[in-house]
Amino acid sequence: MRILSVASEAYPLIKTGGLADVVGALPLALEAEGMAVRTLVPGYPRVMLMLTDAIELKLPDAVAAQVGSRGRLLAAWINGLDVLVLDIPALYDRPGSPYLGPDGQDWPDNALRFAALARTAAEIGIGALPDWVPDIVHAHDWQAGLAPAYLHYHDGPRPGTLMTVHNLAFPGKVPLELLTDMQLPPEALGMEGVEFYGSLSMLKAGLQFADRITTVSPSYAAEIVTSDGGMGFDGLLRERGQALSGILNGIDTIDWNPATDTLLAERYTAATIAGRATNKATLQSRMGLAQDASALLFGVVSRLTWQKGLDMLLEALPALLDRGAQLAVLGAGDPVIEAGFREAAAAYPGRIGCIIGYDERLAHTMQAGADALLVPSRFEPCGLTQLYALRYGAIPVVARVGGLADTVIDANPMALSNGVATGVQFFPVTPETLSAAIAQTANLYADRPAWLRMQANGMATDVSWRGPAQRYAALYRSIRTPAV
Ligand code: ADP
Repeated sequence: MRILSVASEAYPLIKTGGLADVVGALPLALEAEGMAVRTLVPGYPRVMLMLTDAIELKLPDAVAAQVGSRGRLLAAWINGLDVLVLDIPALYDRPGSPYLGPDGQDWPDNALRFAALARTAAEIGIGALPDWVPDIVHAHDWQAGLAPAYLHYHDGPRPGTLMTVHNLAFPGKVPLELLTDMQLPPEALGMEGVEFYGSLSMLKAGLQFADRITTVSPSYAAEIVTSDGGMGFDGLLRERGQALSGILNGIDTIDWNPATDTLLAERYTAATIAGRATNKATLQSRMGLAQDASALLFGVVSRLTWQKGLDMLLEALPALLDRGAQLAVLGAGDPVIEAGFREAAAAYPGRIGCIIGYDERLAHTMQAGADALLVPSRFEPCGLTQLYALRYGAIPVVARVGGLADTVIDANPMALSNGVATGVQFFPVTPETLSAAIAQTANLYADRPAWLRMQANGMATDVSWRGPAQRYAALYRSIRTPAV
């Protein structure tokens, strides 16, 4: 089968979060399932820099007409990905974040930027590249959400459509008045269409019109049909319950393999786990922490936002410091949370270290050097960092929500006595329960056999894309488009 995957991010071309990891890795795993995947992304400056041997294809006429400015469609192979790049400089040739202007606000023309991306996917879906017509258009998150809508309103045969929600918290809201500019028909207005509380939601377009909907873990799929977790979409998602399922993410087990990871100070396997010590020392030195091999070192690699619950970690610091533990934080985001960690690092030099920014190498060092990885998210569609932690022998300490609930086996008494635990879970998600989880982690750390067992269990956990790719392939095969 031919699959067109459309997204705003794909690692290694462009990444701001887990979406990129998924879009970059899933196609390679799907190959083994007999799927030929092409991945369509916008031509951001970083993406254009990576294109060396690109072939120029014709921009679909409908897209050229919709955008009204110069553009090209480029095809290239990058890191095993069969990539299509939508190069429209007026829309994408901008420095910095793919979504935010220099003022930190959404680019005012985001509606048109991502409508162009989705429209291109839809046009390819209906044959704009005659040599390559996909059976399925797979849209990821709000930036691609309009693709199923364009295909829904297309008269004539069309491919099947799948909308994957990586995070419901980003609805892709734009003014309703843009409906015409986005070339959606007037009937797309209204509750049964793309309207969302007085705005147009590009994510809703996908949720409303895709043949099937997935999200990135079974628990998150269950959470988003409730009023607590549905972010305003729960009514629609309940209605579409038959079309909705959860498929866990995997991780790229080649990029993230402690046995071969060239970004590490020392490589190791479960059998040579003592090799983590060198990485711990490197991490301590990078983070300005005391060189102390025995101190329990907690790590964080995360966007610093409300979702990730790291404001609660600031409140739970006494629990960590009381147990003589260290903390290393790598992240960026909310200025208040950033300032909180900077201040904590200044107040406890050698005990708390923080680097504000984005650093792929340090993220690897963190997984290989931290003893435990903290993920206290208020909600978490899947979460990838806890999967990297499992693979690298860092014990994940996670909120029992969404994908975190589905991927970590809590060190409860039964799991410990059966020797199957891989981490620590806590719920509800409060500073108090987080503090208790930190204390529990310190107790486990003091119990060397239990700790080593958990590390070994984590490292033996299958976190690859193989299983998830099989589930996506089965889903693609099951999608039937309505007869025209
Ligand atoms: P989300 O997509 O919600 O941000 P995930 O856990 O699904 O969260 O994915 C986050 C991804 O981004 C992981 O690959 C993680 O290693 C990476 N990441 C997050 N913050 C940083 C950072 N400051 N430096 C390097 N990598 C980061």
